Amino acid sequence: MNTETFLFDKIVFGPIKSRRLGLSLGINLLPLDSKLCNYNCIYCECGWTGIKGKSAQAFNSRKDVKNDLEEALIELKSKNITPDAITFAGNGEPTMHPHFSEIIDDTIELRNKHFPGTKIVVLTNATMLNRKPVLEALKKADLRILKLDAGTEELYQKINQPHSKKGLSYAVEQLQHFDGDLTVQSMFLKGMSDGVFIDNTTDENVNAWLELIKKIKPKQVMLYSINRATAGQGLEAISNEKLKEIELKVKELGIETMVS
Ligand code: SF4
Repeated sequence: MNTETFLFDKIVFGPIKSRRLGLSLGINLLPLDSKLCNYNCIYCECGWTGIKGKSAQAFNSRKDVKNDLEEALIELKSKNITPDAITFAGNGEPTMHPHFSEIIDDTIELRNKHFPGTKIVVLTNATMLNRKPVLEALKKADLRILKLDAGTEELYQKINQPHSKKGLSYAVEQLQHFDGDLTVQSMFLKGMSDGVFIDNTTDENVNAWLELIKKIKPKQVMLYSINRATAGQGLEAISNEKLKEIELKVKELGIETMVS
């Protein structure tokens, strides 16, 4: 496995074939030369927050995002390629963009104009939902994929290293804003980080996480493990069997699952 973490050097990238989303055109609202996030997940594929990149430039402007997206959609059309999804992801947390809500409106407008059947998807760590415009914008997306990797405060702090002091119970409250109309995405891993062994796949930790899933009642849970270089160097992917075992427990709650 390549040990170098990765930054997207474009605003609009792909399309990328993804098992979860099909053919997905990505949108990166974050700087092109550095990662910007209010988490510092040990497994982040963009590297450590605040380390990569020399000059943290401003967020990509609303105007540039709209122009680049329209250009990419026109190009796809000229090649007779229809994307299944337009996905907000990239070098950090997209909802930190000060014009996230307006950008979602622009994206809906362009999607309706060029590919009305394409889904708008947002991958987010759910930390900005206290901002009403962000919450409302996420509700307008076709698919919201929100992060929950830990069932205990201790693991949450170790795995996600949030900047905010509000804690896991606050994060779970944020995930309950959608009346279950969301997908929860959870990373399962184990290994050393900062000299401490971390494993969120033990029965105890999985059961604690399941209790939170029961509270959130998402439509779907996506389970995944490491398959690219990560910020923390001592981590390892867990086996497919282990992921399947966790998947079965989610299914027993009557919740749809996807393993990737
Ligand atoms: S929330 Fe996403 S971008 Fe932010 S540190 Fe975690 S994995 Fe990286």
